[in-house]
Formats: sequence, C-alpha cells, structure tokens
Amino acid sequence: MTSASLREEIKNKVRETADIIQVISDVVELKKAGTRFTGLCPFHAEKTPSFSVNPQGQFFHCFGCGESGDVFSFVMKYNRLSFPEALKELARRYQIDLPEPRLSDADRKRIEERELLYKVNKEAAAIYQQYLAESPDAANARQYLEKRGVSGEAVKAFRIGYAPDTSSAGWNFVTSRLQVMKLPVAAIEKAGLAVQKDRGGYYDRFRDRIQFPIMNVSGQVVAFGGRILGEGQPKYMNSPESAVFDKSRQLFGLYQHREAIRQRRQALIVEGNFDLVLLAVHGIEYVVAPLGTALTKQHIRTLRGYCDEVVLLFDGDSAGLKAAMRSVPYFLAEQVDARVAVLPEGHDPDSYVREKGPGGIEDLVNQASPLAEFVFDQLARQYGMTLDGKNRIVKELQQIISAGDDTVQRSLMVSHFSGMLGITPAQFEAGMTKGSAAKQQKVNPPGENLKKFPRKQRQLIDFLILYPEYFPLLLEAGVEKIVPGQGVKNLFSCLNVLAQEGNLTPEGLLVALPEESAERKYVAELLILGDQGSMGNDEQQVQNMCDEMLHWLHTETRQQDGAALQKQINEAQQSGDADLLMKLLARKQEIGENN
Ligand SMILES: [Zn+2]
Repeated sequence: MTSASLREEIKNKVRETADIIQVISDVVELKKAGTRFTGLCPFHAEKTPSFSVNPQGQFFHCFGCGESGDVFSFVMKYNRLSFPEALKELARRYQIDLPEPRLSDADRKRIEERELLYKVNKEAAAIYQQYLAESPDAANARQYLEKRGVSGEAVKAFRIGYAPDTSSAGWNFVTSRLQVMKLPVAAIEKAGLAVQKDRGGYYDRFRDRIQFPIMNVSGQVVAFGGRILGEGQPKYMNSPESAVFDKSRQLFGLYQHREAIRQRRQALIVEGNFDLVLLAVHGIEYVVAPLGTALTKQHIRTLRGYCDEVVLLFDGDSAGLKAAMRSVPYFLAEQVDARVAVLPEGHDPDSYVREKGPGGIEDLVNQASPLAEFVFDQLARQYGMTLDGKNRIVKELQQIISAGDDTVQRSLMVSHFSGMLGITPAQFEAGMTKGSAAKQQKVNPPGENLKKFPRKQRQLIDFLILYPEYFPLLLEAGVEKIVPGQGVKNLFSCLNVLAQEGNLTPEGLLVALPEESAERKYVAELLILGDQGSMGNDEQQVQNMCDEMLHWLHTETRQQDGAALQKQINEAQQSGDADLLMKLLARKQEIGENN
C-alpha cells in the first residue's frame, strides 16, 4: 500500500470513528433541534444560535458567518492546527493507531516542538509537585499552603508544587533535573523554565515559588504561574508565552472547572490563582482566572463555549474598575452578559469566603450589577454629576460603547446611558460625530505637551494613537529617538506594556494612560474626533501612511546620525586626533555613498 492511500485510509477511519457532535460539544453547548444540533457559533460573535451540526452528514455549518466543514476542519480551525496535527489529535482521542505520517518538514518540526514543550512542562510539574510533597526543604511552602487553607485535596487537584529557593537547591534545580531526563535545554528555555545567562549556562526562572501548573482544556500543562513564598518581586510570575502557551487565550482553572461552569451556565472570574484555589476549597468551582492580563476578547470567546454569563469578582480597590472598563467592549463585541460583584473594602475572595462561607460569595454573585451599570456608577463617583462631570462621563462611555461592534446593543446602551445622564441620545452621540466633535475641541484643548509638536511629529503621534498595532514597527525604525519628550515617553511606555499584553488597541491605550493626564486627554479627544480627513480608514490607506512615516523616520534618523558624526569630526579636528579623524571621515564617506 502506498503511503498516500494508507494516509487516506487512516483519515477515513478517524472520520468514521470520531463523532462530530462529541468533538464540537467539548467547546460549544449544542442543543438538539430536530435531526440537527444547534449552538452559538465559535467563529463569530452572536447571541442567537446560527451554528448547526448535522450528525448524519457529520458536518457543521454556520448560517451567520458561513463557516462550514467536517470534523477535521472544525478541530483545525478551532484549535488553529494544521491538518496533520488535527488528525493526530483526533486519532489520539479515539485511540486509533497512527503510523508516522508523511509530514512536511515544517509541520513535523512544529509538532515535535509542541510535544517537547508539553513534555518539559509535564515533567517540571511532577518535579515541583514531588518536591513540595517530600522535601524537608519544602517545609516552609507546606506550612504556607496550610496557613492559607489550601487543602491536600486542592494541592492534588491543581497539581500544586514548589520551586525551591537557591539556598537549598541552587540556581538550576529544575533545569538540571530536566536535563538529566535527556530533555534538551533549548526546549526547557523555550518552555520558559530556564533562562540563559549572559555568559552562557542557564538558571531556573522560578525560584522559591509556589507553582501552579496551567493546563489547556485537554489537561496538558502549558505553563506555570508562580507565587513567591518569601519577600521579593514580582509577587506573581507566569511562564512567558511559547508555542503551547498563549496568555490571551488561556484561563487558569478552566480545565478543572469546565464541567462546573457548563452546568451552571455561569463563570466567576477572579484575579489570582490563589483566589481561585481557595474558593474551590470552599466548594465554589465555577471559577477561572486570567493569567496576569486583563480579560481579552479570546478569553471571553472561550468562555462563551461553556456559559451564558460571566461574573467578575473584584476586590474593593480601584484596579478592579480599570480591569472592568477594559473588558466592557469585549463583552459587548462577543455578546456575553457580564456582571460585576465587588468585595467589601479590605476583603479578598479568600478572607471573604472564610468569614461568610460559600453562601456569602453566592450572595455577592446574585447581587452583582450589570457591567454597564457598574461602569456608570464608578464614573459617576469619579467625576460627579455636575455638567463638567457629565461631559467627562459621556466621553468615557462613548469610548467604551464605540468599541463594541453590534449596532443594536450600541444604541440600546446609548439610550440607557443618556437616560441616566438626563440628556438625549442625540446629545450623547453628538461627540461621536465629526461635526459637533470639532466644536467640542475648542472647549477642551488637547494635552498641551503633545499638541506642541511640529506637524510631522504630531502626525506620527496621532497615527500611533489611532493605529497602535504599528507601534512595534515604528519603534524599530527609531520613533523614540525622533520624537522626544516626557509626554511622548509616557505614551510609548504605555504602548510598550500593551504590546507585551498583546492589546495594542486605541481603547487599550486610553485606559492604560493615567487618569487626568494630559496624554490621556489628548488620546481621548483624538479618538472621539476620529479621522478628520487626515487619517484614512481603509487598510491600504493606513499601510501607505505607515510607509510614509517609516520613510520619514528613516530620513530623520539619517540626518540625526549625520549631524552627530559631523560633531565628532569637528571635535576630532580640534583635538588633533588624526587616527580618529580618518576613521570618522571614512565613515562619513561610507554613509554618503549609501545615500
Ligand atoms: Zn458563525
């Protein structure tokens, strides 16, 4: 039999064995409707099910976005896998022997890399777990967990472990143990467990930390979240992203809690791993936690496969408001209902559940306010309901609302909020349109220090605010050197943070900037004014603008470098350093030729 026909045979075998209903049900809540099954489409945002699966034909089709295919295409698209990877995944699930298929080199490399990362993480989890359970040097860690009320059962369920401190286990405890198991150090580094030293050699990333393995929905360990045991910073640290770990998609606890969430049709979001585990200890199991980021669109999309409503549980401090504000557009866009529960001042989920029991948390969840109202209340508290306060509230709300892409939802929110503010929807929306926004600009001049830049620089700043996704490109081209100043620095440092969080959006930038800052004001006004003719909307136009900026940056950089070189030449001439002078002149010649 040729390898092609063998592969065809296996493909058919997998197709016959794999049940598309079962496979899709893992991630989409399906309901029987006649001979079909229907549910909410995992490939586009919707509130009424237009996604339908046909068990006879073993295919799916979405009437909303037109996505369709068989069990293979579903697994590929949903998990972002290549065909061979999807085949392998399904064969594994249905225990069908898969002879080594003929893969392209790139596919094979990708699969091997992922498998290796899974293996490294799995073994590391076992090492940390065993160390916590058995080592005399882990006594502190065990005491700490006991003191915080983490039961032995929870330690087991979450496979909690301990990464020892350097005084008892040295700097490469886990790295060396993994290496002894013949796992390549490059993979250990890629998994984020080992960090390369400047002068060669490796040391452990996680030291003296309680280790929470982070599992994907198939239960494979993809990363770790570590909480420092002693003093030291950062208090919480997660593995860096890797081929198997995407922070913006992964939720801690989803693997353990997916059934509980599915049964309740509700998910509770808490901020930290410990909060989640401690709630679980008290029997509250429909909880997940993002991993050191605010909730992303992908998180919400993932949760939508398990539940209808998400409740955010925050400590009574202001960080919660920021996080909530940031997530509003995503909930709107994904059409998932969200409510916010706030813990009383001075409480965290742990202390609260200890004092009031699981019933206390249930009460908070039941009384949680809808996300939109929560945000409004917070803004009203922050700005007050004076005329000026209302203007500021309108601006913030417009920002939030305009990020959602459902027009019905949007107009509902506009009428809702304008009612609360005692203005007409038209007045509310006025700021969103170009005409009246221009009038508003006179009332509130933009942040002075950004406004003072010459036209070209300002164009660049405005471009970065409206299209922050181009920030990395422009950064590489030296934008920081060409546009100096404190205000710009603040802007860039926010963009840097957002780039790391994978959240380079204008809205993200707005909320990341400090409240009341001139930069934030500038950004808000620019976003409300939108494109007053100078900035384009279609992709090609934006790309052209970016090219133009890059070209200008290049020219400016060259001029700056040239001027710096000339200054050096003058200095060398004055000091009579002939060797240096010759070198510099040669350099100048070289640059001149390249221009
Ligand atoms: Zn769809």
